[in-house]
Amino acid sequence: MEFNNVAILITENCNARCKMCCDSRGVVCGKTLSEAELLHILQDIKECTYVKHVGITGGEPLLYENLLDIIFNFDFEREVTISLKSNGFWGRDIGKTEEIIKKYQYKLSNISLSYDEFHMQFIDVQSIKNIIHIAHKYRVPTDVVACSLKSTLTPGDILNKLGESAYLTKFCYQPVICTGSGKLFEENDYIKLLDTQKDEIRCMAIVQPDILINPRLEVYPCCSQVIENTILKIGDLKENKLNDVIMGIKHNYVFHTIFTEGFTPFIEVLKQHKIDYPKKLASPCEFCEFLFKDNWFLEILKKINYYENI
Ligand code: SF4
Ligand code: SF4
Repeated sequence: MEFNNVAILITENCNARCKMCCDSRGVVCGKTLSEAELLHILQDIKECTYVKHVGITGGEPLLYENLLDIIFNFDFEREVTISLKSNGFWGRDIGKTEEIIKKYQYKLSNISLSYDEFHMQFIDVQSIKNIIHIAHKYRVPTDVVACSLKSTLTPGDILNKLGESAYLTKFCYQPVICTGSGKLFEENDYIKLLDTQKDEIRCMAIVQPDILINPRLEVYPCCSQVIENTILKIGDLKENKLNDVIMGIKHNYVFHTIFTEGFTPFIEVLKQHKIDYPKKLASPCEFCEFLFKDNWFLEILKKINYYENI
């Protein structure tokens, strides 16, 4: 398993306050990387020569254009592409949007825009359309990501709102994941299509492994919305080199199980111990949060010498 992608969560601040946000990010007193911390991270990434792609995420990254300039102007001494996740608020100013996309166009491999019933309370659809059109002009691919509950607008409704702009972008949709602020909806409003008794529950990260570094310089093994709500922190760049942290994941038994076998072996342990577990899921990542929201499941694995016995 190669970790070619690293995502930097440059800020927890956001101008929106979406009800389904995985981490109640609409708190404008969250942590943002300082320029020195960001340079420290970039230097670490530079030393991991197998990293070919850096994703920028938040919070809302475009609130901190100075940090984006540092990332886009950083000399990795090899080709590293950069993608951007945003709520698209900046698209309301066409001149500014053109300036930003033109400035970053050669390294910018994708702009991922979040837009759905939750985001539309804060972001006008015209802002999203402006970004899609200007990015298209500069040959920068875009995608629009929408989350739904049973009671909210459907993916089809969102496509209708995008109108003809939908022809110029990719469109991805997913059920709201029950984590962070997204835990606060009525239980029967979630769209839960996975059945842990029938389906094989597999980790989402194996398709495209993606390390996450947050504004506290903590490192997590994937970019799932749930991951910061678990104990699966795997390192801290204030103390460790990124390369050592990544090697640590590769040699970690628990991650090895999750990445290679999925959750089936752990479900067997739960059944043997008659421990109740979620039967319906919106995403496999919800099962990760269930097992690793604190130490309880690791304690069980330790008590039964799970890995020693293997
Ligand atoms: S979901 Fe995205 S845009 Fe909405 S509050 Fe959270 S970080 Fe901000
Ligand atoms: S299943 Fe767990 S490790 Fe895999 S992507 Fe989801 S949160 Fe990350």
